[in-house]
Amino acid sequence: MKYVLAGASGFLGRALARDLVADGHQVLRLVRRTPAAPDELRWDPARGDLDPAALDETDVLVNLAGANIGRPWTPTYRLKIRESRVRTTATLAAAATQLDRPPVLITQSGIGGYGTDLGDRILTEDSDLGDGFLADVVRLWEGALEPARTAGSRVAALRTGVVLDRKAPAFQLLSIPFRLGLGGRLGPGTQYFPVVSLTDWIRAVRHVAETDTISGPVNIALPTPATNTEFTEALATALHRPSALPVPSTLLKLALGEFAWELLGSKRALPTRLQSTGFTFHHPHITTAVSAALA
Ligand code: NDP
Repeated sequence: MKYVLAGASGFLGRALARDLVADGHQVLRLVRRTPAAPDELRWDPARGDLDPAALDETDVLVNLAGANIGRPWTPTYRLKIRESRVRTTATLAAAATQLDRPPVLITQSGIGGYGTDLGDRILTEDSDLGDGFLADVVRLWEGALEPARTAGSRVAALRTGVVLDRKAPAFQLLSIPFRLGLGGRLGPGTQYFPVVSLTDWIRAVRHVAETDTISGPVNIALPTPATNTEFTEALATALHRPSALPVPSTLLKLALGEFAWELLGSKRALPTRLQSTGFTFHHPHITTAVSAALA
């Protein structure tokens, strides 16, 4: 199949491209700089600039672009977080409407769309999106798929938890205190902390791409949701380190501002759509997902 990837230079984009190429698929990478290889194509999503003629015969378009959400959310940076997701998706959707054969269009999205702190409530794809900055971003991000859907494309939005892998910047950051013997739960620890192994994330994206009956939002997180305390214990055990030093919520809020709620807020998301369409996880539990990330 022919895949076109936006955000292919990022952590998830590189991992997905590698996996697809290894299985013999054709991958065209969209880049914002001058192309440096035959499998790269220049686009300018800020201007909505992408030549549909270059996307001929594309089966699947995947958007994994987006400015890092782990930086302070100043008003200017909020705009960047939002625009880098909405404009990229909108540019791909507009290109999809120009193609003779409508491609599948998949965009990354986030579990943060359900809201910031939702306690024990089970979140499936049928749950309403919530309030707050990230929920607003997710509404616009996923809404940008609409022109492609109207023109006949199958569209899907991957509401993904934190992807665990030893090379993932977020996981590396979370692991540092443990490696120093200073690890501990974040805040109360009772909050549900949606995660997935990189292997299962890649398999889930490919399942969505290849399964004609899937459209709309798709949660990608462990089928057995874990709390932050359970994640902390799994990480400490796998690294043979203690997990005795909890990080107080106030410290996280001081250090990370509003982004701290992505770690402190509870999101008990279930991958209902994946499981109802026959997807099985290689790493369904927090212990196996953490061990796979460190392997
Ligand atoms: P990275 O930061 O590693 O990569 C992001 C990509 O986005 C880069 O390839 C970059 O492409 C592109 N990009 C950055 N800034 C802009 C911009 N202003 N305009 C257009 N494109 C831009 O992210 P990940 O691979 O980790 O994640 C990919 C997406 O998935 C992000 O939207 C992220 O929020 C989301 N996500 C990630 C999770 C994770 O655990 N990693 C979990 C849930 C969601 P370029 O080469 O053009 O600079």
